[in-house]
Amino acid sequence: MIDYKLHIPGPVDVSAEAYQAMSTRVMGHRSPDFVDLYNSCQPQLQELFQTKDPVFLSTSSAWGVMEGAIRNLSSKKVLCCMCGAFSDKWLDVSRRCGNQADGLEVEWGSHIDPALLDEKLSSGEYDLVTLVHNETSCGMMNPLEDLMKVLAKYPEVISVIDTVSSFSVVPIPKDDWGIDVILTGSQKALALPPGLALFTVSDRAFARAESIEGRGYYFDFLEFLKNHEKGMTPSTPAIPQIHGLKYTLDQIFTEGVEKRHARHSRLNDMVHGWVDQKGFELLPEQKFASKSLTCVRNNLEMDIAGFVKALKVEKKIAIDGGYGKIKGKTFRISNMGNETDDSMAHLLSCMDELLPRFLRSL
Ligand SMILES: *Cc1c(COP(=O)(O)O)cnc(C)c1O
Repeated sequence: MIDYKLHIPGPVDVSAEAYQAMSTRVMGHRSPDFVDLYNSCQPQLQELFQTKDPVFLSTSSAWGVMEGAIRNLSSKKVLCCMCGAFSDKWLDVSRRCGNQADGLEVEWGSHIDPALLDEKLSSGEYDLVTLVHNETSCGMMNPLEDLMKVLAKYPEVISVIDTVSSFSVVPIPKDDWGIDVILTGSQKALALPPGLALFTVSDRAFARAESIEGRGYYFDFLEFLKNHEKGMTPSTPAIPQIHGLKYTLDQIFTEGVEKRHARHSRLNDMVHGWVDQKGFELLPEQKFASKSLTCVRNNLEMDIAGFVKALKVEKKIAIDGGYGKIKGKTFRISNMGNETDDSMAHLLSCMDELLPRFLRSL
């Protein structure tokens, strides 16, 4: 029995109301009822993505679309900005797709420096850049606006931005900043179960895709566009997820997008306050700290595994004991999705209570 609440940085806790919405009956995916549902999501999605481009729904996790972006958009060479587990993986994925790819690599927890990106791109070797906006493994948010200013100098380079864990947490003005492809997933700040990826593609990127052979079928961006024009998806989608998405979009616009951003920022500050108060440190520089989650450096040499386990068993709350090579050296707490001042205060008071037991006795 799953009797604990998720405070890991994805998947995050799903509300009873969202589950309820997902249990709405399915309909045929070529029926007018489906077209109504699909089309009813579009205006809200376009507003949330801050774009005039169509927003596509892919029945896959985010990696499906990430791989699709490589296969649809590069014929020369991909530059993968690498600063943590998710962004590092993109280099491997690009090469597995048979593409030529290089990494612009910095230490985990560091940000991608716009000047470094500029220097790399000035070689003229690349036609695609992959960037993770919010590197969830390190709790680090890249300076996207400044990085996009660099990309604006290279019109032949298409930008693919993974906003899986920052989408709907902070404003990301896609069209104003000239982003070509933004992709995200259902299980992070949108607080839906995993299984749906959402993405949007610029005209420039569609033009690139038209010139590329071997786009495959399932993630062919042009196939998504063709079906979108009919209010449909290329193949049978996860219809319950889309019912859940419609519910979530209504919720987001009832709260108000700006208020949602402010709430995430305020709740994130609460966690930062706790970190300071206990004498812990953030993994990234404060200036680049994520608003979605907090990645705490274990400078107090706490028994992280013991602490995470006690929170789960005694307090019925799951936090994360570190990802990949920084497991045990960091821990991560999510404030994404439906969290409130009360739910975060509850989490922090549970952590307060248990912490002394797991600090190394001096
Ligand atoms: C969670 C996450 C992913 C993983 O995507 P899935 O394919 O949905 O597992 C990718 N990128 C970032 C930044 C993430 O936080």
